[in-house]
Amino acid sequence: MYNYLIVGAGIAGCVLAERLANFGNHILIVEKRYHVGGNCYDEYNQDGILIHRYGPHIFRTNSQEIWKYLSHFTDWYHYQHKVLAYVDGLKVPFPVNLDTLNILLNQQFSGAEMKNYLDKVRYEANVDVEQIKNGRDMAISLVGQELYDKLFKYYTRKQWNLWPEELAAEVTGRIPVRLNRDSRYFNDKYQGLPKHGYTKMFNRMLEHPNIHILLKTDYKQIIESISFDRMIYTGPIDYFFNYVHGRLPYRSLKFEYETLPVEYYQEVGTVNYPNDYDFTRITEYKHLTGQKHLWSTIAREYPATEGEPYYPVPTEVNQELYSKYESEAQKLKSVYFLGRLAEYRYYSMDQVISQVFRFLSNIT
Ligand code: FAD
Ligand code: UDP
Repeated sequence: MYNYLIVGAGIAGCVLAERLANFGNHILIVEKRYHVGGNCYDEYNQDGILIHRYGPHIFRTNSQEIWKYLSHFTDWYHYQHKVLAYVDGLKVPFPVNLDTLNILLNQQFSGAEMKNYLDKVRYEANVDVEQIKNGRDMAISLVGQELYDKLFKYYTRKQWNLWPEELAAEVTGRIPVRLNRDSRYFNDKYQGLPKHGYTKMFNRMLEHPNIHILLKTDYKQIIESISFDRMIYTGPIDYFFNYVHGRLPYRSLKFEYETLPVEYYQEVGTVNYPNDYDFTRITEYKHLTGQKHLWSTIAREYPATEGEPYYPVPTEVNQELYSKYESEAQKLKSVYFLGRLAEYRYYSMDQVISQVFRFLSNIT
């Protein structure tokens, strides 16, 4: 008899299990993959290089509470992510900063001159900033038409198979613009990777004697044969309801790995390719993890329609469809839906933890 059945051992499932077990509950986690950690899972490949199996994950948060919480289970490699975008045959800093603008426009602007430039192109773009409704207007209102065309338009099309105007504003609104030379990808106060990897961190979280884990099992295979008081579901919400309202679209990725006999392949952790090739970006893992090795593994990311459900697709139509499932979910008394797939939200890791903490404070 378990107090909680948790479906999915991603970051949502692991944090839930650890917290609830520490409050004295008995937990069963059912996970259909062969490992814990969900999409944050990392492992050493056959060449001995630590890679993230489901795409590059850099932890970041502004919440001291969340950072401190994870620090109980790991030390940190204090990495701050850097990205270059390959545009017009040049590699420029991304997100847009003073150097990006000066290189792409062949200028020598100061920060104040960059501000004047942005004021001008934003005015010309004629976007009502109070009424931004989609990813195109958001990006143009940040950088103007010319940089939007070079950096955002075709990357977004490749990534989502949709034009930016078809997507919610939050998709491109995640990317900051800077009037200085700060070339970090994220602004958050706390940034880093677990020093010995995500998988080790999750394993430490789950070391509690009240937590039992069943891997390689779809919860629907065993649900009738176990007894529990409450269930927390972190998988895709449409699957839970047997797709009664139709399938929610998810964007997937295919990774092409290559290990090269060089210490480093590229200058920074990730290089984006908005306009060239079919892949969106190349990540070189050693930059992220700080691992020392004579060789280096890179991963090219090809967006795909079929495959693992990585990204909920933030469009109005999909949000409406999700709302139908959400109404079904609200009718259930002792089943709760949490995480990126169950809430159909484009959450980062810290946002998932924040949701979990909110949930826990409501039930305890
Ligand atoms: P998941 O990690 O998807 O976990 C859900 C788990 O449920 C999975 O393990 C799945 O196998 C299991 N499951 C599903 N259905 C069933 C079933 N029927 N029975 C049993 N088990 C089931 N966030 C950041 O903060 N920083 C980043 O740099 C970052 N980079 C990312 C890069 C990529 C390519 C992607 C796709 C996401 C990235 N994210 C990043 C987001 C991050 O991956 C998510 O916020 C986080 O992993 C979501 O955790 P979760 O537990 O909600 O879901
Ligand atoms: N984006 C873009 N050009 C880039 C990088 C990002 O147009 O070079 C847009 C694109 O729509 C992408 C979104 O910004 O989906 C968010 O980018 P982020 O790097 O945060 O995406 P993730 O790491 O979640 O794939």
